[in-house]
Amino acid sequence: MTAEIMAFHSAYDDFETWSTALAREGVDLRRAESIDEPDRVRHALVWKPPHGFFSRFPNLGLVVNLGAGVDALVGRDDLPEVPITRLSDPKMSRMMAGYVLFAVMRHARDIPKFERAQRNKQWQYLHPRDPETITVGVLGLGELGMAAALECARQGYRVLGWSSTLKSVEGVTTSAGLPALEDILGESDIVVCMLPHTPQTRALLDAERFAQMKQGAAFINASRGTIVDESALIEALRSGHIGEATLDVFATEPLPADNPLWTMDNVLVTPHLASVPLPGSAARQIGENVRRLRDGRELLSRVDPGRGY
Ligand code: NDP
Repeated sequence: MTAEIMAFHSAYDDFETWSTALAREGVDLRRAESIDEPDRVRHALVWKPPHGFFSRFPNLGLVVNLGAGVDALVGRDDLPEVPITRLSDPKMSRMMAGYVLFAVMRHARDIPKFERAQRNKQWQYLHPRDPETITVGVLGLGELGMAAALECARQGYRVLGWSSTLKSVEGVTTSAGLPALEDILGESDIVVCMLPHTPQTRALLDAERFAQMKQGAAFINASRGTIVDESALIEALRSGHIGEATLDVFATEPLPADNPLWTMDNVLVTPHLASVPLPGSAARQIGENVRRLRDGRELLSRVDPGRGY
């Protein structure tokens, strides 16, 4: 049998780095546009490939989404009938947990207030609060969300976690399903959104949900901007009902210059980089799945396109 090829497409990721990392796993990665023997392509490593991309490769057996969020892939009408996997990378989870912890601590330690005071040369002493008295609600307990929740628990915050199916996690009080959402929002001083974008979560956090959050609560979104009704968030931030926000993701990216979030004093905007796949560690899982596919074994981190994540 002729050697298998993995086709690569991404406008954001460096081909050479991925190619070197995957070569260590015995995977032959090629830029999709330079492949002249498409029938040798058995796998595709892709981030937002153009429409019709997959139809060039008649022997495709696996699509690897070059990231954890698969919403841009699973909704397409040109997907081949082959397994889809997402990246699962312990370093990616750790990077996300680090971002969420940074954002949680930023609010828990009143850093935005000190930044404002510094601009006015004000020595504004605010006595630090005991982390145990601060409740952090994490919406979404997947690979990245769970790592974030555990990191917050490790710092001593009271952590509530919410998911679709009930989880049992040491150090995190868990609940599941839509009826439980109001309680978790109402109890949290800091709400962290770690949900995937699916038809069920689209605009889930709307004006009614923001109203259910505590007066002055902080809001962190590190998963997808489309889960939030952005106008409702802006209104809640303007009224002060949501006291502060740290936002890494937005309904439209890059965030348009005329979006009010850019200039709001109580908002920190970061340009969608809370976490990124790190080829050195992520390549191991891809290599393992290539071997599993070859041997007819069950694949790791398989995505359910019907469920949307
Ligand atoms: P997973 O797909 O592993 O987990 C998703 C979690 O959300 C699960 O706990 C799931 O519940 C829960 N969930 C899904 N739908 C619902 C619902 N309708 N109601 C309640 N809970 C729900 O995701 P990850 O944790 O790995 O990643 C989360 C998101 O982070 C990704 O989808 C991606 O969009 C985003 N991301 C952002 C990055 C950035 O740089 N900002 C980088 C990488 C990813 P259950 O466990 O019961 O299925």
